[in-house]
Amino acid sequence: MKTVPCRRRETCRLCGGSDLHLVLALTPTPPANAFVGADDLAAEQACYPLDVFFCKSCHHVQLLDVVDPGKLFENYVYVSGTSSSFVRHFKNYADAVIGRFQPDAENLVVDIGSNDGTLLAAFRARGMTVLGVDPARDIAEKATANGIETMPAFFTPELAAEIRQSHGPARIVTANNVFAHADDLAGIVDGVKILLADNGVFVFEVSYLADVIEKNLFDTIYHEHLAYHLVKPLVRFFEDNGMQLFSTERVPSHGGSLRGMAGLSGGPHDADGSVADLIRVEERMGLDKAETYRDFAGRIDKLGQDLKALTAGIKAEGKSIAGFGAPAKATTLMHHFGLGPETVDFIVDDSPLKQGLFTPGHHVPVFPADALYQRKPDYAIILAWNFAEPIMEKHRAFQDGGGRFIVPLPNLEIH
Ligand SMILES: [Zn+2]
Repeated sequence: MKTVPCRRRETCRLCGGSDLHLVLALTPTPPANAFVGADDLAAEQACYPLDVFFCKSCHHVQLLDVVDPGKLFENYVYVSGTSSSFVRHFKNYADAVIGRFQPDAENLVVDIGSNDGTLLAAFRARGMTVLGVDPARDIAEKATANGIETMPAFFTPELAAEIRQSHGPARIVTANNVFAHADDLAGIVDGVKILLADNGVFVFEVSYLADVIEKNLFDTIYHEHLAYHLVKPLVRFFEDNGMQLFSTERVPSHGGSLRGMAGLSGGPHDADGSVADLIRVEERMGLDKAETYRDFAGRIDKLGQDLKALTAGIKAEGKSIAGFGAPAKATTLMHHFGLGPETVDFIVDDSPLKQGLFTPGHHVPVFPADALYQRKPDYAIILAWNFAEPIMEKHRAFQDGGGRFIVPLPNLEIH
């Protein structure tokens, strides 16, 4: 049995303060993507705390328990180019950045956490020089083989200095979801400062906490996502670290994300009104108060109790329940809502990478979608609930055959 080391930090990831308050205690889980093979079923998987803390000083919301990132990301299976909506998203992303900042052809773009190079391919198609950095060795090698030079490494100030020496300064540095995944955000910004040209722009996307609260996306909270970002704490964070956040916008990726743009302090980019606008939105939603998150925790627990009562009733009638979709976030949902193998007989998922494996912790088996028609469960809980509409559309035959879909969130529904 491999152990995954976990440590708890004592200070806020953004401001370094220590006035941290527990606002949401989710049920501990194994790492959300730690699916296991049949050979490993005998070993019980360790669960780690999933406690969400609010910093009274800068209002940053975060996990303090950090599971060793090497274990989480070295064998990462998520590949962005496999999803056509991501390819489209990244093309629009590159077009928007190029349109706004008008870099010269052949200027350098560096993407931190570049995955399979989908975003960089879009920049390269516009004539720019591109370089990826990603710690997932297999994915980095494949990207390089596909023509997107990718360094298999974590991004550090030392690596940034190395890149600047070998490739020159970067006009654009991008980082998508890295700001949610990394523990040492100041270290990343230190590296970005070393790498950026004087007029360079750092563009990042992160899941936006305002959307998490508004849309009940509590299951996006898992160990890979250490930080849940708002504009206001980030403004202060960049200021403290020699940069300025000058523009922000809401974008639709991952159920609602924030795209931020920052430059070196004293650089040529003036702040536009978008930063102040989003800070006003956050204040109106009360996202600068611990109570708001405690209320959110209460709403989530109520949804969990309702779902638990529903499934208990179904089981009491002797009926069967399957799960639809095994995304990482299903690990949080199933653990916090107490949906184990006694409730969910099996899960179907379209990804061949997950079929034949067993879910983290509960060890519910994952089958291809046709299991829905062979095993004919009475109900299927849509765990990939953000895709509930297209899933129900595609599997109308399941309903026609007498099956019912349960959509657990954002509101509990039966179809
Ligand atoms: Zn703080």
